[in-house]
Amino acid sequence: NAFLPGARRWEPHDRALSVNQPSNRRRHVIQSTQHITPLAFPFIEIEEAWALIRAYVSPLMPTTIPFQESLGHVLAEDVRAEEPLPPFRAAVVDGYALRAEDRDAWREVVGEQRVGRATEAEVGPGEAMWVATGAPVPPGADAVVEVERTEEQGTRIRPLYTPTPGLNIRPVGYDIAAGEQVLHKGQRIDPAALGILASVNALHVRVYPRPRVGVLSTGDEVVEPGHPLRPGQIRDSNRYTLLAAVQTAGGIPVDLGTRPDEVEALEDALEQGLRETDMVITCGGVSMGNRDYMKDILAQWGTIHFGRLRVKPGKPATFATVAGKPVFALPGNPVSALVAFYLYVLPALHILAGDTTWVHPQVRVKLAHPIHREPGRVEFQRARLRREGGVLWAEVTGKQASSRLLSMVSADALIRLEADWEEIPAGTEVPAILLNPERIFQLTGGLP
Ligand code: AMP
Ligand code: MG
Repeated sequence: NAFLPGARRWEPHDRALSVNQPSNRRRHVIQSTQHITPLAFPFIEIEEAWALIRAYVSPLMPTTIPFQESLGHVLAEDVRAEEPLPPFRAAVVDGYALRAEDRDAWREVVGEQRVGRATEAEVGPGEAMWVATGAPVPPGADAVVEVERTEEQGTRIRPLYTPTPGLNIRPVGYDIAAGEQVLHKGQRIDPAALGILASVNALHVRVYPRPRVGVLSTGDEVVEPGHPLRPGQIRDSNRYTLLAAVQTAGGIPVDLGTRPDEVEALEDALEQGLRETDMVITCGGVSMGNRDYMKDILAQWGTIHFGRLRVKPGKPATFATVAGKPVFALPGNPVSALVAFYLYVLPALHILAGDTTWVHPQVRVKLAHPIHREPGRVEFQRARLRREGGVLWAEVTGKQASSRLLSMVSADALIRLEADWEEIPAGTEVPAILLNPERIFQLTGGLP
């Protein structure tokens, strides 16, 4: 560890992993006076934090799954079509297959070519065959005339115009050529891509797994909702917020429970998280308190890549890797925890899921009102956006205290205020990280 010489590393095959052998568990006796406080870490800027996350998080090992289960996964391979689509010349309309060279002359209807059947008879000069949309065009015919654009007389028909060769016929391979690459590695499988997999008969696909993300709440004061509060206690909201945020981002949330500020209890939960999940998020216990142990544990078990950020909220947010798995130890204040999730955990989650080019969705907005703030750190305030005169206006969601989760409820964006800004006039243009990009499109009817 760059910051903490002598720190021991936690290994994946460490006996500490074996829960059946409690006697083998590593025990740390940490004196409160020997804490690693956030002061032990250099202040880093948010761009540096993002770079460290990109440097130390990599996609999970791809797996092969049935295509039916692949929605939302990122492809770990290119997909090619072996066969052409359509595999035969297909009629595009319901009508008559005929020869264009006969122009608009009368034709004798010699039969019907149904969908899903092989072609049999040939269409000769002066002949036509009834075809349905999607049916193979019989040999000899080189055009299909819409039934509603023909005239009928007994067993004969006549086009009301002069058809051209190829009219209303999809040639072999029109939609997908044989051997064509239809999907590429790194692409997220959406409903249309799923349909492509079906049509090219890609029964199994190699994808990055959905990351399993453990969420652990910590704190002596934190209790489960449903219990009456004893003096000094508060209910655990972060665990629910973070589990939901993981799920919304396409991860598989794994509830690691709530633990008191005790090294052994925290280690047990972290160990379980590292064993059962691909990434662990903890909240609480990363500040300057005597019983804030998370940084100590992470420094001993793995490597802390950052532990102090020049960012508000979430200054003590910590990013570590333990045996190659990312661990984010977020502050306990509900807004700090959720903002830090959006800023740091979300990019990591997307990288794990194989989407290495993901960036925060961002637009530029204008402040609807002036903001007076304390300079020093880049700050992300929560804002509602509205559109007026072709401009997206940001209005902050009331008091921006990091304890006040209500400031996140129905927030559309995190607006970025630069470190040295103090008096910010209304109308100032600022970047806004969108928390729910879909809503912005509803608001604007598509952005300029
Ligand atoms: P900490 O980061 O542990 O110093 O906690 C900072 C603040 O967040 C304290 O006021 C805690 O009571 C509060 N807090 C910590 N964990 C949670 C949680 N899981 N849910 C709601 N509030 C919490
Ligand atoms: Mg705490």
